[in-house]
Amino acid sequence: MQTHNLGYPRIGNQRQLKKASEQYWSGKIDLDELKLVARTLKEDNWQTQLDTGIDLIPCNDFSFYDQMLDMSLMLGVIPERYSPVLTQVKGNLELDLYFAMARGYQKDGLDITAMEMTKWLDTNYHYIVPEFTAKQQFKIFSEKVFGEYNAAKQALGEKAKPVLIGPVSYLLLGKEKEQGFERIDHIKDLIPVYVEIINRLKQQGAEWIQFDEPTLALDLSKKEKEAFDYAYRAIANRVSGVKLLVATYFEALLDNTALAVNLPVSALHIDLVRAPEQLDEVLALIPANLQLSLGVVDGRNVWKNDYEKSLGLINKAVEKLGADRVFIAPSCSLLHSPIDLEFETAIDPEIKNWMAFAKQKLIEVSELKQIAEGNHDLLRLNKEAAESRRTSQKVHKQAVKDRVAAITEADATRNSAFPVRQQLHHERFNLPAFPTTTIGSFPQTDDIRQLRARLKKGELTIAQYEKAIEDATVEVIRWQEEIGLDVLVHGEFERNDMVEYFGEQLDGYLFTKNGWVQSYGSRCVKPPVIYGDISRPADMTVRWITFAAQQTNKPMKGMLTGPVTILQWSFVRDDQPRDVTTNQIALAIRDEVAALEKAGIGIIQIDEAAIREGLPLRKAKQPHYLDWAVKAFRITASGVEDKTQIHTHMCYSEFNNIIEHIAAMDADVITIETSRSQMELLHAFAHFEYPNEIGPGVYDIHSPRVPATDEMVSLLTKAAELLPAQNLWVNPDCGLKTRKWPETKAALINMVSAARQAREQISVEGIV
Ligand code: GLN
Ligand code: ZN
Repeated sequence: MQTHNLGYPRIGNQRQLKKASEQYWSGKIDLDELKLVARTLKEDNWQTQLDTGIDLIPCNDFSFYDQMLDMSLMLGVIPERYSPVLTQVKGNLELDLYFAMARGYQKDGLDITAMEMTKWLDTNYHYIVPEFTAKQQFKIFSEKVFGEYNAAKQALGEKAKPVLIGPVSYLLLGKEKEQGFERIDHIKDLIPVYVEIINRLKQQGAEWIQFDEPTLALDLSKKEKEAFDYAYRAIANRVSGVKLLVATYFEALLDNTALAVNLPVSALHIDLVRAPEQLDEVLALIPANLQLSLGVVDGRNVWKNDYEKSLGLINKAVEKLGADRVFIAPSCSLLHSPIDLEFETAIDPEIKNWMAFAKQKLIEVSELKQIAEGNHDLLRLNKEAAESRRTSQKVHKQAVKDRVAAITEADATRNSAFPVRQQLHHERFNLPAFPTTTIGSFPQTDDIRQLRARLKKGELTIAQYEKAIEDATVEVIRWQEEIGLDVLVHGEFERNDMVEYFGEQLDGYLFTKNGWVQSYGSRCVKPPVIYGDISRPADMTVRWITFAAQQTNKPMKGMLTGPVTILQWSFVRDDQPRDVTTNQIALAIRDEVAALEKAGIGIIQIDEAAIREGLPLRKAKQPHYLDWAVKAFRITASGVEDKTQIHTHMCYSEFNNIIEHIAAMDADVITIETSRSQMELLHAFAHFEYPNEIGPGVYDIHSPRVPATDEMVSLLTKAAELLPAQNLWVNPDCGLKTRKWPETKAALINMVSAARQAREQISVEGIV
């Protein structure tokens, strides 16, 4: 039996890569210094992995920005617009070109946009999307993988295993930049370059090469399946003497199982954390020569492995295949997990004993092999930890479980249907047509952030801190009144982050000091950890919202984060289904909604920014997810009286396949992102005849650009052609937290005058 790893976090245990890259970008260090940081990180990571006793250790999993971008550079897939960078820029061309593709280029009289970024399957990691043209050429451009393999070979000898994105997933996860071709048809031109790469690595001494093919576990068309078959047959026909391992993860192979096990490669990796049930089918179909890599240690979460469970899977595979055909591994690259639990000195030791970060996960892989070979002491310790977690009072709160079990359909349903509520809202708030509002946050300036930092350091008392936040809140309220917004917000100055702020006040959450995970490029996030049953010991937002409401006669929106978004942006429990955890959060938020209503707040927004992100990769699983996710939202929103107006907000623009579920949320008002698509996405709402009120974002807050009034009037005109004008609100497309004040002020002033013009120019039935 052998062990291997698919990828290790590259940011460094103190986020060294983030710091060095940002210093390089701002000219504070030179390329040699940046490269030195990178080399040290790689060598440290290899040493760490050697120390854990892993047999095959990845290389080329390091990246200065993103592994997909590395592939694009390696294969010469460099969009035409970067050719001036290629020809004009001197010096260390390759990395400058690379960063230009990642981040855009505004120097030397050039102004070139960055490549598009999107989420890596269902993770919160973002990759740079390859751009293909009809006549796309492929040729080796970057030599990075060869250099990395050489260095790894020196450090690791024959244990070094280069990692690449496989050819089919590389194409499928990219996009066509012009019409008239399908990118998958490029497979024939791409394979010769892969063959060349494999042969060179082989000449350098590589024994194993890992190809990540996550798309092999997705819904594939016939043509895509054929591409897999073609690609690996074409490679097998042209290379020999080097072993290929194809890695799948995040889903079960399902209907692609026969295809996958029959690829002419040496080993197949499957994710048995996400989909343990696929092992039987794989073992039933596996041909005599294929080795199987069992991904039994969760690469995407922070919990200790349950050895007994993993051993059940390992033993089953060993029985069928023999130990020498079995690999033990994490489920996927450890890129998605924090690095080292040893740095967490403040976590309750009882809970810490249930956890494992990347380094600990490799030790687990190594221990599983030792146990499978007969070392039973290790198993006993693991069982004790599992038992402590299963029974701990810190995790299990009977009252919370009982309450979730008792949820009824009535808890998830408003008292009256929307038309009845709408009438009550018109009477209560008496808003004009095209009412104006914002999404919640106003610019989080350095001054505001400093306040929190100083409070933490003890330089400010709580009273001083709260006074400063109150001042900022009053100021933003005065300003909203002054420019004539209709429904005001308090600005969210007291919040660090829309999930963390709630997590900190809920029981069942813990926070790490250093649990950073790469989100994209140099950006890292530190998701909070849900370890136990969730409950709400006290009001969370009432103090700030009521303070804000007292400052004005205009309606003040209460502002909450929804249960699915809280779940989605946290590390979650693996000892109960996600929907159960979500329902616990939903009840806590429901209580907060009730508390706000009781305090006299008439309009409450429950943000579900991430509901779409949680959508399972496989279509067959999506309806079930949408059912419970939507119901969780409704649980939060349905404990109020009809006269209370519930808003929700979503920051994405793809609603086509989920519109009926969005409608089923039954929010009185939904605000969405539409401005970049010129209201195009409203077609989904129009086609569905979406019945409730809707605020299609009239300007893009993701850029500092100030939109002109006319521009927004014409967007509203478009919107009014598609949807009943009396249902339309006027708002930006997301919160303003990341913007600066000058552009925010200018844009909102224009937005309010756009709404005024719309009231004059567009006829609105039904409003008196
Ligand atoms: N209320 C939040 C804000 O304005 C919503 C943010 C979001 O949708 N990501 O910041
Ligand atoms: Zn948003």
